[in-house]
Amino acid sequence: MAVKGWIEVSDMYCKGCELCISACPQNVLSLDMSRLTHKGYHPAYIHKDGCTGCAICAVICPDAAITVYREVIKPLHPGI
Ligand code: SF4
Ligand code: SF4
Repeated sequence: MAVKGWIEVSDMYCKGCELCISACPQNVLSLDMSRLTHKGYHPAYIHKDGCTGCAICAVICPDAAITVYREVIKPLHPGI
């Protein structure tokens, strides 16, 4: 069954350390070089599709800046 995930990164807590970027098995994370948080860091963000909602990024983030959401996509016609 396909699983789609997405994350939210808190500007309040992210310090741009890149640990989540290294840890993501789908390589969908990078730093957003187009903006800064109010503390002056480039925050992590999802730059492409493919997040599975595995939550490895959230577990490894030392600042608990990441919230993970996961959607299970169920088939409309099970058995077909
Ligand atoms: S691990 Fe946490 S603090 Fe570091 S870049 Fe990722 S979200 Fe930001
Ligand atoms: S939940 Fe998993 S796949 Fe999605 S961004 Fe985090 S580590 Fe990558």
